[in-house]
Amino acid sequence: MLVDRFGRVATDLRVSLIDRCNLRCSYCMPPEGLPWLPRQELLTDDELVRLVGVAVSLGVREVRLTGGEPLLRPGVPALVARLAALEPRPELSITTNGILLGRDAAALAAAGLDRVNVSLDTLDAARFKQITFRDKHAEVLAGLAAARAAGLAPVKVNAVLLRGVNDHEAPDLLEWALVNRYELRFIEQMPLDAQHGWDRARMVTADEVLQLLTARYELAPVSDPDRGAAPAETWQVLAGPGVTGPGRKVGIVGSVTRPFCGACDRVRLTADGQLRDCLFATTESDLRTALRAGADDAELARRFRVAVAGKKAGHGIDGPDFVQPDRPMSAIGG
Ligand code: SAM
Ligand code: SF4
Repeated sequence: MLVDRFGRVATDLRVSLIDRCNLRCSYCMPPEGLPWLPRQELLTDDELVRLVGVAVSLGVREVRLTGGEPLLRPGVPALVARLAALEPRPELSITTNGILLGRDAAALAAAGLDRVNVSLDTLDAARFKQITFRDKHAEVLAGLAAARAAGLAPVKVNAVLLRGVNDHEAPDLLEWALVNRYELRFIEQMPLDAQHGWDRARMVTADEVLQLLTARYELAPVSDPDRGAAPAETWQVLAGPGVTGPGRKVGIVGSVTRPFCGACDRVRLTADGQLRDCLFATTESDLRTALRAGADDAELARRFRVAVAGKKAGHGIDGPDFVQPDRPMSAIGG
């Protein structure tokens, strides 16, 4: 098992497939993009499957593929099929901006993908372009529909609210998600953008999201024991536009104001083969170099254990000595 010194067990591996992206979300990367990782530094499919296999042998039960934009990597359905063949088979999911899901959703489902999270911050095409610097709103909506049609249910939608840009859309987004049977989660903006432009005072907090939603919806908290290591606090949507029956939910991920580090079960592998025990870690374990130098599975497993054992108690964003990691979100894997 992958246990840290606070007794937390890592069972959820986030794997970044690529650092490149076809959007430029303002809270993630600058409009001109970033210096992308050289291709030869990216893990090959064989290397990636091997490292995930080692993680699975150490108790990892869930593998989430992310990026950058994971579907920009060639051959993701074939990679999913290989990961689905691991023993014991991990749960497989992907976090994507959805642009390429119209092309890939059916193949991903056929390959064994279990779930998908699609990021969408606005219902307005012009505002989408303002936030992402790309005119791709229609593609994302088509991608979401393709995911649902492919049976990748429940399709989850992640939204980041930006003050004065799309925060007024919170209840509209919820109504749209209820009507279309997507599960919506709002995520607090974190200091992980490449530009280092995050400003706590401008961040839309989890409390504010709740206020914005309760102006139109009757919500009831889902009791904590159901939460486990899930970062989202979940609310039942009891009444409001688009509520047609029981069981409708909305999530709020208060990563900054309501940290869930004490229950964290995650560990992350970057596209260039660096193991990170936290989104906010400032150190990494270089599995790629070890693997390319001929390390056997036992040695790789040892490195996994050492990396996880050293995990800090929390992200410390509010601490006086907090330092934003050098690696931006897009190169870590969100
Ligand atoms: N490109 C894919 C996407 O957008 O879904 C996967 C990678 S992206 C880094 C994963 C998630 O991180 C997205 O839901 C995105 O909204 C979120 N994200 C990116 N930068 C963020 C930030 N600074 N604070 C909070 N969430 C962020
Ligand atoms: Fe790309 Fe996702 Fe970052 Fe947006 S949040 S720029 S879609 S990696």
